Amino acid sequence: MPDHTCAGCGAITSPHDVVSVAAPDGAYRLLCSRCFNIEMARLADVHAFEHPEFTPIRLPGADGVVHEFHFRSLLFGDQLSLEALELASGDEDREGFRFQILGDPQTDPFELLGQMVKKIRRALAISHVVERAGQLELAGTMVRGRIEWDENQHGRLPCVVIDGRRIAWDDFGEMLMMYEGWQFRLELIDPSEEA
Ligand SMILES: [Zn+2]
Repeated sequence: MPDHTCAGCGAITSPHDVVSVAAPDGAYRLLCSRCFNIEMARLADVHAFEHPEFTPIRLPGADGVVHEFHFRSLLFGDQLSLEALELASGDEDREGFRFQILGDPQTDPFELLGQMVKKIRRALAISHVVERAGQLELAGTMVRGRIEWDENQHGRLPCVVIDGRRIAWDDFGEMLMMYEGWQFRLELIDPSEEA
């Protein structure tokens, strides 16, 4: 069991809520998001910053499966990043949905949360892959997903996460073969800009 003790307050936090911060001497220390934000608010002169903490929420996907999202808010100078993470099957697998939005740290954090919930709902409403006869297939001609590290490929090839499901690069290639001869357009989008 890896140690996720915050070097600031000593709290044992969940792995998705710690940030690895480099000190001037080059050493790294783990901080919980609250301690990270307090330090960042001081460094970036963000006055009266209050660390927002949101309880996890559960939302159903298009297939009826319920997804549980945990939130992490991190202050990056003049921007507050809010992330929603679906901790599907262990954090190390980088499976599940992930969303991010950026906002002004002085705005009401619940406004940011509201935007986030809308974003999650929009994404959950559409299935990009479907299972037919035990095989995963593309549901249509448009697919959205996330590029992730594949431990089995040692970073040489990615895997993709579509509808929160982790799909190996080979399997994704196989899925594209139903469109052999078609053209494609590939656009890479920063997580915070994905609508
Ligand atoms: Zn802490």
